[in-house]
Amino acid sequence: MDNVAFLSLGTNIGDRLQYLHGAVQALWEHPNITVEDISSIYETEPVGYLDQANFLNAVLKISTSLSPHELLDVTQGIELQLGRKREIKWGPRTIDLDILLYNDENMETEKLIIPHPRMYERAFVLIPLKELGVEVSERTLQGGVSLWRQKNGGDVFGLFESLKDTHKKVLPEI
Ligand code: ADP
Ligand code: MG
Repeated sequence: MDNVAFLSLGTNIGDRLQYLHGAVQALWEHPNITVEDISSIYETEPVGYLDQANFLNAVLKISTSLSPHELLDVTQGIELQLGRKREIKWGPRTIDLDILLYNDENMETEKLIIPHPRMYERAFVLIPLKELGVEVSERTLQGGVSLWRQKNGGDVFGLFESLKDTHKKVLPEI
């Protein structure tokens, strides 16, 4: 699990916490992914397409033996598994899983751009990224984002405590 990546999670349909939970669990259970840290959960006003409900957003730090494209296949598989349908660009979604960073790599292919091209203008990504120790320019931290549930303490799972009982792996040491 030599590579470190940061993933963003966003959801604004139905039981939003349940969708975040489902995505974290699916990543957790993947044999080639270790979930290293999870941010607090933030509530965010929509950007782009405004006529939709507020989002819940969080960021995950993972380590993985998967390549960037293999990781994209996994995250898109989880989106499908959790019922995501691609209808309106930037429209409502049960779950959006984006790859923000993968090591220090800069890459651009038809399917995958890393770092994620819009992350530097999205406070709902930058605020939780900063919480997980990634250096972020203060100037870009703008409004529209409020803390929804604060992570308590240094435990990996924080707000996803119940996953501890279901997982089959040994908890990583932080
Ligand atoms: P958005 O996340 O911008 O709201 P989608 O989730 O519908 O939009 O993704 C559209 C496409 O973006 C995906 O099919 C994927 O191939 C591409 N993509 C490019 N770079 C990334 C990335 N870093 N993470 C996730 N998807 C990406
Ligand atoms: Mg996406």
